[in-house]
Amino acid sequence: MLMPTQDSKCLHLIVNGRIPSKKNMANKDIVSGTKHCYQCNKVKQFSEFRKNRSRKDGLSDECSICNSARRKNYYTKNREIELQKRKEYYSQHSKRIKNRVSLQYKRNISSWIPLITKSTSCQICGAKISLNTGDINKSIHFDHRKSGTEVIKLNPTDWLNKHKATEAHKKIWKSCNFGMLCNTCNNHLPTKDRIEWLEKALKYAKTK
Ligand SMILES: [Zn+2]
Ligand SMILES: [Zn+2]
Repeated sequence: MLMPTQDSKCLHLIVNGRIPSKKNMANKDIVSGTKHCYQCNKVKQFSEFRKNRSRKDGLSDECSICNSARRKNYYTKNREIELQKRKEYYSQHSKRIKNRVSLQYKRNISSWIPLITKSTSCQICGAKISLNTGDINKSIHFDHRKSGTEVIKLNPTDWLNKHKATEAHKKIWKSCNFGMLCNTCNNHLPTKDRIEWLEKALKYAKTK
């Protein structure tokens, strides 16, 4: 009789008190919702297997942990060949890859539009600016008001492009409290010690 016992990571099948041989276990999804991994010889939950449409049950024959380990091992041994292959693939499909990335960007940015106004005026000079126009001089530039305290330290527009507006991401974005400026005003304004800089700049500008 087959009895499943569960430990923290996987289910081991016990046959009459003994773990069955690899051969006996193969291809037997004995306990519903579980499957045998031929690599580590353990029976694991379906959720621990990657999808594979070519298999009858739609799941890979090896568990995700074994799959990652095998791929990592293969890559380490064949690094140069793999890098060359990737390079060739990219040069052959660069247009398609670029289109896919730009589509992804557009999708991500559009998810932010209800939260971040699509067009506004520069908070300093009042110039009309819009979100992601493709023209640097007409685009909204998000200004880090304070240095050193933001969650998003690098270019905020790139961050918007890479992330969809999920609740967690919205929280991060709001916590940064970015200003919206035109390219020119954003370029002139330093992030660090800006008040001191502005006071000095004003003093300089007033000097005849
Ligand atoms: Zn495994
Ligand atoms: Zn401006």
